[in-house]
Amino acid sequence: MTDGDGDAIILGAGAAGMMCAATAGARGRRVLLIDHADAPGKKILISGGGRCNFTNIHTAADRYLSENPHFAKSALGRYTPQDFLALVESYRIAWHEKTLGQLFCDGSARQIVDMLMQECAKGAVTISLGHPATAIEHGDGRFRVTVNGREWTAPALVLATGGPSIPKMGATGFAYDVARRFGLGVVQPRPALVPLTLGADDALFRSLSGISAAIEVRWGKVRFREAALFTHRGLSGPAMLQISSYWQHRTPISVDFLPDAEPQWLVKLKRERPRTPLRRALSRMLPERLAVALAEKLALGGELVNLSDNSLRMVESCLADWPFAPTGTEGFAKAEVTGGGISVAELSSRTMMARRLPGLYAIGEAVDVTGWLGGYNFQWAWASGSAAGQAI
Ligand SMILES: Cc1cc2nc3c(=O)[nH]c(=O)nc-3n(C[C@H](O)[C@H](O)[C@H](O)COP(=O)(O)OP(=O)(O)OC[C@H]3O[C@@H](n4cnc5c(N)ncnc54)[C@H](O)[C@@H]3O)c2cc1C
Repeated sequence: MTDGDGDAIILGAGAAGMMCAATAGARGRRVLLIDHADAPGKKILISGGGRCNFTNIHTAADRYLSENPHFAKSALGRYTPQDFLALVESYRIAWHEKTLGQLFCDGSARQIVDMLMQECAKGAVTISLGHPATAIEHGDGRFRVTVNGREWTAPALVLATGGPSIPKMGATGFAYDVARRFGLGVVQPRPALVPLTLGADDALFRSLSGISAAIEVRWGKVRFREAALFTHRGLSGPAMLQISSYWQHRTPISVDFLPDAEPQWLVKLKRERPRTPLRRALSRMLPERLAVALAEKLALGGELVNLSDNSLRMVESCLADWPFAPTGTEGFAKAEVTGGGISVAELSSRTMMARRLPGLYAIGEAVDVTGWLGGYNFQWAWASGSAAGQAI
């Protein structure tokens, strides 16, 4: 695409944009891929602690949040984790399953970016880095985009600029601005997969910063059983990041600190070892400092023999249903993804094209589809990028 006219212009050389460009390029489409950053795929490079959790083998639409929970089914069904894995293996990139179906590179996330760039090169994709799009116009069935003083035109424009999570990495709400300009709705963007903050009432827990425990967290009917981490600001770790995507302000979450405990375990322990102090009983099951904090909050102490069975049952039920009232989240600065985004009501689930403006597409995190933690968000980027890449 050297004369300024092509088949598609893709804004954003992240996960979704590169996949879309490579897919369309492989079909012989002339594609221009534009990013204002000086290098492609920066979020891929920092993902998964530098090893990129590139997919999850348990991918299914019910592991995504969206105003239309069915929307993601079509794209996810047509480009699966196995499809991406086959691509990874064709480049001889070594990988392993960590836990809960999460697949990571053995080596480095750089391998995924290099693979996608090679796929773009195979499809003769033209890439423009380091310059923003300064003007975007539409007329006579073509989009006109100005980059670094040069105008490019194409009948298809793909919005793949992600969401505003981690703005210090160049993340913006640009896709929403363009979508709104062309008359598309945007579901209120919000930080997701983000640590929760606790207030003064929970200062004792904030003093446990660095301690983690395997818990079950619940919000309404949603529950996650994973590790939680106490921080100096509140609650983090996989379980809390997961629940944060669902949590709504001014509502409590509930934590089961001992999801594997047998019923009546404290009463049984009292019969077996009556002289055990309550704090020690709790620290057999939980990290010591957490056990001490919980006993302090419960305002109970002493040896089990001196506590009634009813008090011990009360302790058990408190530990199984401990309410926390988060005061908020750590915001977009710490959010792994953005919830909300370009309304799926406006898009075809098969092609990702806007119904009211043929030729305009939106993919990846810019769209109101937000995955669980664990490789689901990249799988959405690959699947939605592939869907649009097949259509443009
Ligand atoms: C720290 C961290 C770790 C993560 N780890 C994982 C993980 O292991 N597994 C997983 O599944 N998900 C992970 N995610 C989420 C994942 O990175 C995103 O869901 C995914 O990158 C979204 O892909 P995308 O292509 O839609 O957007 P992005 O990858 O964010 O790409 C958007 C691109 O658009 C460009 N852009 C933005 N604004 C403009 C503009 N105005 N003009 C031109 N270009 C622009 C950006 O520079 C960027 O290159 C992680 C996120 C973070 C922040």
